[in-house]
Amino acid sequence: MKVENEDKKSLNFIENIIEEDLKEGKNKGEVYTRFPPEPNGYLHIGHAKSICLNFGLAEKYNGKCNLRFDDTNPEKEEEEYVNSIKKDVQWLGFKWEGEPKYASDYFDQLYSWAEKLIEKSKAYVDDQTAEEIAAQKGTPTEPGQESPYRSRSVEENLKLFREMKAGKYKEGEKILRAKIDMSSPNMHMRDPIMYRIMHKPHHRTGDKWCIYPMYDFTHGQSDYLEGITHSLCTLEFEVHRPLYNWFLDQIIDTGYRPRQIEFARLNLSYTVMSKRKLLELVEKKRVTGWDDPRMPSISGLRRRGYTPESIRDFSDRIGVAKRDNVIDVGLLEHSVKEDLNKKATRVMAVLDPLKITITNYPEGNIENLETINNPEDESMGSRIIPFSREIYIEKNDFMEDPPRKFFRLAPGREVRLKSAYIIKCEEVIRDEKGNITELLCTYDPETRSGSGSTRKVKGTLHWVSAPHAINAEVRLYDRLFNDEDPDGHKDKDFKDFLNPASLKILSNAKVEPSLKDVKALDHFQFQRIGYFCADQDSLPGKPVFNRTVPLRDSWAKLAKKS
Ligand code: ATP
Ligand code: MG
Repeated sequence: MKVENEDKKSLNFIENIIEEDLKEGKNKGEVYTRFPPEPNGYLHIGHAKSICLNFGLAEKYNGKCNLRFDDTNPEKEEEEYVNSIKKDVQWLGFKWEGEPKYASDYFDQLYSWAEKLIEKSKAYVDDQTAEEIAAQKGTPTEPGQESPYRSRSVEENLKLFREMKAGKYKEGEKILRAKIDMSSPNMHMRDPIMYRIMHKPHHRTGDKWCIYPMYDFTHGQSDYLEGITHSLCTLEFEVHRPLYNWFLDQIIDTGYRPRQIEFARLNLSYTVMSKRKLLELVEKKRVTGWDDPRMPSISGLRRRGYTPESIRDFSDRIGVAKRDNVIDVGLLEHSVKEDLNKKATRVMAVLDPLKITITNYPEGNIENLETINNPEDESMGSRIIPFSREIYIEKNDFMEDPPRKFFRLAPGREVRLKSAYIIKCEEVIRDEKGNITELLCTYDPETRSGSGSTRKVKGTLHWVSAPHAINAEVRLYDRLFNDEDPDGHKDKDFKDFLNPASLKILSNAKVEPSLKDVKALDHFQFQRIGYFCADQDSLPGKPVFNRTVPLRDSWAKLAKKS
């Protein structure tokens, strides 16, 4: 049941409606929602919002939530998508009621309801082409024209519809339309299409059907058949609501109706969210796949290092709105940072290594130094990292001629090596072209971390012991688009705004030995750099890491400058 501080949080407008319904004793006090994806692509962060909302409300009110595949279009739907959707919902931490449901499970029922509509003279078979029908639709201010086939007899309509089902006609030759009102101000009520002919096998019903119901003739009835109490959908379906009700009113005479409530879809800055566009990026190989860590797909976010908790937290924070708006993608990045700050082990990783030899450190000596795993959570304990005469630091942590405020390493200056000693740079070694190849330093043996030494220096650097270091590949991901609204330019394609610097691969990183055999999705904070997670391409002894988010937000700085 509700926890205390949740009680205090004010209710969103959907919760208000639900609580009122409960108070009035509607639906026998039950809350039953559903998440109804069309299996024509992988889920994205917008779907995550809908999942968290539907499953979240069911959890909050001790109700139930169905996973229902709206699989009415055999052309674009595939088993691969069904499986990825199930996986993503489960990964987010939700459990659907019973078995997953499929709109295609209701094809027989829908077909008999279609015949019922014909018998009531509320539906007719139209022989016109799609173009002819579109030309008669009218505009929101002008009424449409009635089809010349609108007054066919019930018997003729039944015969033709049955022949359509039996496969007598080619695609596009005939369709079944509802007979409603060609002059309705609501365009969706102007004799909408109910069934079309498609000689395509379906991923679940195989060759059984060659006519398929339209989404509009399926959705409301599916909700009805499943006993859904609150049917939440995005704003664009508000204008479909009278049609769903009209269909139910023709075929069902009980008082129960699912209550449809519309909310604003999630839009994120620097992101495109339609499955069709995401599919285009996949098909045109502008990304490596649906799970490319730059994709706003749930599978991409997972591979990038997002946690289910961070996505649920994000969804909570943005709440539900009645009007369209755009959420700053920085808020999503903030949610994952906050979660990983609590969970991620702090480790040493040098992305762009510069070698240091500590000339006064005994040759061949190795010390095992203790370092804590997470200062935010003592229960995560500590581990041992090896220290030796040769180490790597980050190239950009050294400057030969530093400005005054540079507190890292420079000739004659001192820094602390995290969890180790204070070192001083004594000499810079170069190759014949003048590039710096190595630094010679000395260390102060009295300054070992944890030994009680009180000597302080301004800068602390991360490092790894050179003979113990593991070679790693590090993939630095950045935002996929470099425009706030890639979709919002009239004369330009969203692909024109792909960020050319969205992936930088570093193949020469050096990481501490504890990272030798990481498992995909293990999370870490590379100290002073950012949050990273192990990629599925990692092999034993050859780790690959994806950057989830940098510690400092370079985009916020850019925004301030401009
Ligand atoms: P897309 O246009 O990205 O393909 P869709 O709405 O066609 O999305 P569906 O598979 O039909 O995708 O969506 C399943 C559920 O997820 C629907 O209830 C839909 O309203 C919801 N949904 C889709 N996109 C968003 C979004 N950006 N924000 C909130 N809910 C969304
Ligand atoms: Mg859709």
